[in-house]
Amino acid sequence: MKVRYSYLSQQFSNCDDLWKNLKNFVKTGDFTLGKELTKFEKKFAKLIGTKYAVGVNSGTDAIKLSLKVIGIKPGDEIITAANTFVATVGAICELGAKPIFVDCDDSFCMDTSLIEKKITKKTKAIVPVHFTGYMTNMVKLNKISKKYRIPVVEDACQSILASINKKNSGTWSDFGAFSLHPLKNINVWSDGGIIVTSNKKHYEHLKLLRNHGLVDRDNVKISGYNSRLDTLQAVVGNWLIPSAKSIANKRIKNANYFDKKLKDIKEISIPPRLKNYKIVYHLYIVFAENRDKLLKYCLKKGIEAKIHYPIPMYRQPAMKFLNHKIGNFPVTDRHAKSIISFPCDQHLSKKQMDYIVKCVKEFYKKK
Ligand SMILES: *Cc1c(COP(=O)(O)O)cnc(C)c1O
Repeated sequence: MKVRYSYLSQQFSNCDDLWKNLKNFVKTGDFTLGKELTKFEKKFAKLIGTKYAVGVNSGTDAIKLSLKVIGIKPGDEIITAANTFVATVGAICELGAKPIFVDCDDSFCMDTSLIEKKITKKTKAIVPVHFTGYMTNMVKLNKISKKYRIPVVEDACQSILASINKKNSGTWSDFGAFSLHPLKNINVWSDGGIIVTSNKKHYEHLKLLRNHGLVDRDNVKISGYNSRLDTLQAVVGNWLIPSAKSIANKRIKNANYFDKKLKDIKEISIPPRLKNYKIVYHLYIVFAENRDKLLKYCLKKGIEAKIHYPIPMYRQPAMKFLNHKIGNFPVTDRHAKSIISFPCDQHLSKKQMDYIVKCVKEFYKKK
């Protein structure tokens, strides 16, 4: 049996109504900003539970423009997670700021008890990453943010509709940054991103920043960027967004099934599933003994398992200038050696899930 990782060929295999919408859209010529984008932004804000949303051209820019609103300047320090995807760090570096890494815990998110020691006079923002569809402990993080008056931008790119105490990711701080990249839980047909906020001033500022700082055709108020979400992609987003909740729920259901089946294998340990947290499983990750061999075995058996990520950001050549040493982030390092990700998406069949469980069991029996 083959278990693919990417389900994208299935995601839009049955969308004649979307093609009809696109045909109608093309006839309007409304290709930048415009009606469809506004509609999508309103729907997105409503889905997450904020007053406003601003479509931008990527999740990276969603983080970058939010940091720009905060006033981040070259040389500022920004605290973020050591085990994130490159984009978080890229957004920080693009502004000339310095990423200050904090190690994670077994929920794959920043260990909030380690934040305070990293705060200096130069710290100008905290960017928690709600990694894998889990959430950073925002109750604790917001206490720190308040105590030191440091603004927060949530990197919620992997965690659309995740929540703590029913409060959604992206609503715990002034800015929630989401990605609509094809590999994310809610995706369009190209790059895309969106920022949520309930602060009107920030909303107006973000709208200027993403469109060259233009107030209207002839007046440029601030210097900005060309970072609009393509209106064509907003048409795709408008088509998919009614499925957002069911996509999250299906992933949760699949993950619960895996948890139940895999927990009996003593060489596998399931990450903590905190009670008041809703985890949306952008990635389904477990800790595995003899991980490298298990990965090889799965691949041989046709299961496209993955490692997110084998080389942590702080050890990448691009981050050499930070002078970190191997061992500076022990939990991140331990994870890099022991984690494995299995497909867990909404298009996965029960047969495929059972096959994954069977192969993992087989592997440890043979060993
Ligand atoms: C996907 C992702 C982003 C943004 O990526 P884009 O490709 O720019 O949309 C940022 N942070 C994390 C953790 C991500 O997974």
